[in-house]
Parts: sequence; C-alpha cells; structure tokens
Amino acid sequence: MAQKGVQVIAVEPGSLAEGAGIRPGDTLLEIHGEAVLDQLNYQFLITREDEAELRVQRPDGSTFEAFVENGGEGIGVDLAQDEVKVCKQNCVFCFVHQMPKGFRKSLYLKDEDIRLSFLYGHFTTLSSSDDAELDRIVRERLSPIHVSVHATEAQARIRVVGNPREGDILRKLDHLLAGGIDVHTQAVVAPGLNDGETWQRTLNDLWVRRKEGRGSVLSLSCVPVGLTAYRENLPVVQEVDPDFARDWVAMWAPAVRKYAKANGGEPWLLLADEWFTRAGIEVPGRAFYSRSWAQLENGVGLVRRFLEHSRRFIKTPRAKGFAGRRVLLLTGPSFAPTLNRVAAELNRTVGSHLRVVAAKNFSFGETVTVAGLLCGEDLKYAAHADRDAKGGRSDWVDAVVVPSASLRTHTGPTDQYTLRGVVVREEGAFLDDLTLPQLAEDFGVPTVPSGATLSHLLDHLEAADRGAFRGGSLQSSFHTAGLNLPQGAYNP
Ligand code: SF4
Repeated sequence: MAQKGVQVIAVEPGSLAEGAGIRPGDTLLEIHGEAVLDQLNYQFLITREDEAELRVQRPDGSTFEAFVENGGEGIGVDLAQDEVKVCKQNCVFCFVHQMPKGFRKSLYLKDEDIRLSFLYGHFTTLSSSDDAELDRIVRERLSPIHVSVHATEAQARIRVVGNPREGDILRKLDHLLAGGIDVHTQAVVAPGLNDGETWQRTLNDLWVRRKEGRGSVLSLSCVPVGLTAYRENLPVVQEVDPDFARDWVAMWAPAVRKYAKANGGEPWLLLADEWFTRAGIEVPGRAFYSRSWAQLENGVGLVRRFLEHSRRFIKTPRAKGFAGRRVLLLTGPSFAPTLNRVAAELNRTVGSHLRVVAAKNFSFGETVTVAGLLCGEDLKYAAHADRDAKGGRSDWVDAVVVPSASLRTHTGPTDQYTLRGVVVREEGAFLDDLTLPQLAEDFGVPTVPSGATLSHLLDHLEAADRGAFRGGSLQSSFHTAGLNLPQGAYNP
C-alpha cells in the first residue's frame, strides 16, 4: 500500500480528536503503531480497541503522538477521500474499451478496488491485489468480497482478462478462503471464449470451494457478455444472441435447481436476468433466486423481484395513488416487456394510464438494451418520438419516468473514492452529462426517476406533484437501487 497516512479534513467540535489537538490539515499517520492506509483501514484500526495511540503529522512535517480513550468508537474526524485503484487487466469485453469518445473522463476510469468490492459489492478481478493486500483483506475481515473469476483454467482466464500474469485466480481465491473470507463470484460468459468445458471446469472448481462456515465461495453467477457498437481495433468477441441465450437457459437453469438442492435449498449457481430477456423467456419463480437476493446488483433476480413487489403492491390501497395518472415510462428494450405487463395490470386494476416505451440506445449502439446505459439524449429522443406520435401536444402526458439506473454512477469514482483531477458530477446526471432538470425542462412536464419499485415510483410522482423534482433539487429518495441496472458488461 503506497499511501502514507490519511489527511484529516474536518474535526468535530468537542470531539476526542479536537481534545487530542488534531486539526484539519493534519495527517493521521499511525494508530497503535500501524500505518493508516485509507478510510476503511482507519475504521478497522480505531475500532479495534477501547483506546488508541495515534501518531499525527502537522502540515509543516512535524509529528506528535496522542492517546485517546475512545471505547472502540470513531474519534470525530472526517478523512480525505481515498484515491481509487485502477485495474491492470485488459479484458476482451471491457466496457471502458467499448465506450464511444466524448463522455466525461471518469467514465473511462478502469477502477478495480477491493475496498469498493467490500463496501458496494463491486466485482474485482483481484488484478491490483498482491499478497500484501490479500493479507490485509484477511486481517481486516473484509468479507464477503466479489470476485470476477471468468475462468479458472489459466490459459482461458488469460485470454479473457488479457493479462498473462493473471491466469492463476485460484491461488488468490484460495488465499482469501483460507483466511476465512467469503467470496461471491461471477463469470461473464462469451461464446467460444469461456463457455463449454471451460465454464464447466470453472463451475466445478468453484463448487468444491463452497463449504459450511467461513471461507466459502457463496455463489457463482454467470452473466452474458455485453458488447457495444464501438469495438474497432478490439478483439473479436461473439455476442450472446437469442439462440445462444436459449440454449444456455435450457442447459443451466436445471443445474441451478440441482446445485440449490445440494446447497441446502439455497441457490448457489445464479443465472443473470439477461439470459432470459435475451432469450425471450419468462424469468423463473422466486425459488430460483437466493433468499437474500445475492448478486441482485449484478442483474440476478431484478426482474423477478420487481414482479413480486408489483404483484403485492397492486393489491394495496396505496396503488390507487396511480389512478388517473397519464405517465410515460421510458426504459431499455430488455426490461420493457416486463414493465409493460406490470403497467397493464396496474392500469386495469386502478384505472391509471401508464404507457411503456422502449428507448433505443443510440449512444452505445442498439445492441445495448439495458436501461442503465441509456443516455439523456436517448431518453430525449424516445420521449420526443412518443410526443410526436401523440400529436405533438405539450401536455401529452402528466409525467415522464426515466430509469433510476441511468442516473447513477456505475463506474468511476464514488463519493468515497476519487481520482486525482477528475470532477465528480452531481448525482442526477446521465452518462452523457445531461441532467434530470434539463430533461424535465425539455419535456415540459415533471420528469422523475423510476426508483426500484412501483411504490418508489409513486413516491416520486407525488413528490413531483409538490414540485420536489423541479429546479434540480433532487431528493435522496431518487437514489434507489435495483431496477434497470446495467448488465455484467459494466462489471469487471
Ligand atoms: S472489465 Fe474490469 S477488470 Fe477488465 S479491463 Fe475492464 S475495468 Fe479492468
């Protein structure tokens, strides 16, 4: 770990830190004689014992020591954001390599940081994790983490991640498992690259590493590769077409049930929703997915969970809040059929007028069908086309709904991790930097994010009734995970 100490940016008045003479601008060098590496490490060190010996550096370079009796709690400092680590792979399906030019700088960042994996469930290929970092994960019990395995056979993995030094993922995994760290795993599957026998071996190698108690492979998901239209000068990767997706479902959906049975009823092998939506097959029932919806953020079970929520919600009195509303719901083509069915049922039940339009992704190419990668311009185009088709009236709908996932930052720095020189956009911006208020102004009607459920959506529409989504002042409630998330192509 290169970083030496973490800078203090604020000290809470009356806090233990203030009492110890710590000021903003100081650097926290050590706690209990151990170097403070980052925010996460600070949390680990400061909460380890009831008291803490600190070594602190002033901006002029002088240092002093302080002793605090903190009862295993924080001492009242805000620390500077950590810099995100950058991945050392060159994956053949890396989404960043397939980005068209001209987007904001942070979207071209290939972040791969074990801290993000622990905090937010991001997947990492462990390329930037050397043995010292693996030891740290074990020591600080950063469990569970999420690892992109892709293939356990060395040559296959090297082909996928494009890095000759990163073939032996099992060595790194075993290091973590032996240290008691649990791991969720995934393989992004590309036809001819890591399917067939390679996939079968990956499955077998990971299954034998599942066990009772700590240090287990908790799950393995398979996600179909996602390709954009921008692959000039990149290795040829075959897309997952509907036939391939149908064959995959036919072959592996029964295996999901078989592995679940052998795992005490808890699904362990997980199939991403994209297999079903690409194949044009109805997603399976609730029992097909983990009880805790493991890997939901990776697109496993989103459609089923949405259907379950919706079915229950439509029966509640609250659903009547939709009555009479004329709402245009924009989403990606892969989620549109599901949303359409739900909207039709809601309309029938409460007398609402929800309409679903599948927005084409002109920004990344029409092969990209997930809602989370729709740009502001794509949504604008779809809404304008709908308005024109309805006679061009400015009040053609009462409100437009955009996918929440298209407004969220899925790559690049988060609010905890930053990259030097990169300005983090305010929340509420689409990938192409258009903002929700700009879209609302363009449409001339309230424009709100979908949220993850119909209940969230109704909250947002009611907030719009009160003007809460106007003028760019976004409520934190819009930031709801789960619905319309990007596909695995967005994950390492
Ligand atoms: S897919 Fe992820 S791990 Fe692979 S090159 Fe891109 S950012 Fe790195």
